[in-house]
Amino acid sequence: MSEITHTKLEEIKEKTDKYLVGNYKRQDIAFKYGVGEMLFDMDNKPYIDFLCGISVTNLGHSDADIIDALRSQADMLFHTSNLFYSEEAANLAEALVENSFPAKVFFCNSGTEANELAFKIARLHGIAQKMEKPVVLSLAKSFHGRTVSAMTITGQEKVRQGFGELLPDIDYITENDIDSLQAAFDRYQGRVAAFIMEPIIGEGGIIPISDEFAILARKLTQDENALLIFDEIQTGIGRTGKLFGYEHFNFQPDVMTLAKALGSGFPIGAVMVGEKYESLLTPGTHGSTFGGNHLAMRVAYETLKIIVGREILQHVNALSDFFFTKLNIMKTKYDILKEVRGKGLHIGLDFTIQAPQIAEECLRNGLVVNATAGSVIRIMPPLNISIEKVNEGLSILENVIAKFAKDSKTESYSVS
Ligand code: PLP
Repeated sequence: MSEITHTKLEEIKEKTDKYLVGNYKRQDIAFKYGVGEMLFDMDNKPYIDFLCGISVTNLGHSDADIIDALRSQADMLFHTSNLFYSEEAANLAEALVENSFPAKVFFCNSGTEANELAFKIARLHGIAQKMEKPVVLSLAKSFHGRTVSAMTITGQEKVRQGFGELLPDIDYITENDIDSLQAAFDRYQGRVAAFIMEPIIGEGGIIPISDEFAILARKLTQDENALLIFDEIQTGIGRTGKLFGYEHFNFQPDVMTLAKALGSGFPIGAVMVGEKYESLLTPGTHGSTFGGNHLAMRVAYETLKIIVGREILQHVNALSDFFFTKLNIMKTKYDILKEVRGKGLHIGLDFTIQAPQIAEECLRNGLVVNATAGSVIRIMPPLNISIEKVNEGLSILENVIAKFAKDSKTESYSVS
């Protein structure tokens, strides 16, 4: 039996290599189904999911209410287009605004598309303010997506390399460095149209933005009549212990981009445009065929309803304390674990060794995590994960860390 299923993975790999472009480096696993916090591969081997498809399936897999919402909407209507009104889109927009700040919403299909519009809004704002060559600022370790403008505002050089000249009038600020932030606003005085930041840098290595830095960013953008754009594509929808990451600071952004967990795995993106700025988007300035389709709207509405209604954020905060306590104990035990960072269930472990090998060993042992920024293991379990599975997952992780810690000691002895 297992031989047959093993052949199945080999078949999938062969077909993938033959027919899909080679832009992804994949792990040697194909998942067949998921239940709650568990994933099962082609051999029905179980894995604890500490990744949520990169902060997407925040309610775990196959939540009955999400499935019901999708099924009942599928019975009614998939798509009609933005030529017409949509009850589902209006309901979701209302729920988003009621749970965040006074704004209006545009719906699209992914994070990069949401940031694409945020960038266009920044340009529209700069031009409306008669700025000469409006500048958009972002953070040096940020990640904002893969379209040309999302890629250009992405600070990480490796993402931008190899595509020739990108968009002009963009500059990068060192995260949590208030001198770098102040210097950029001084350098481009009268020209800063927007500053975009993730409240916790995700792909760049789970780096929480300090209160001091964020508060200065809010002040400078206000003083300079620049937009403060929060990219909450990874931090939004409960991941950090608040519904949105900006709530950790005592202010609101002007524009917020969302995607990933908003749709529980159904593709969606959203841009929330503060009331003061929504008039920048007049008919013809932007659009999307699929954006706002009935299926995505219905599923996202259900997702939001569950997260707000099921006391999930309290659970996240209780589990977060548990995670950080356990992980900080591991830090004291294993030298290779340098730092434990993050907020809520958006957690990064920074190692003295390369992280991909740790992620692969965790996978072999039935725990799904992922490596980012070279040395960081990212932990993003479902927000409703049970304490039993957290304990099981953490003990797999600790065994793996212990193994690498032992190996690194043996290596250093043999070197000296
Ligand atoms: N912004 C942030 C903070 C992200 O983490 C990501 C994806 O990882 C994106 C934007 C791009 O989103 P998408 O992959 O949906 O285009």
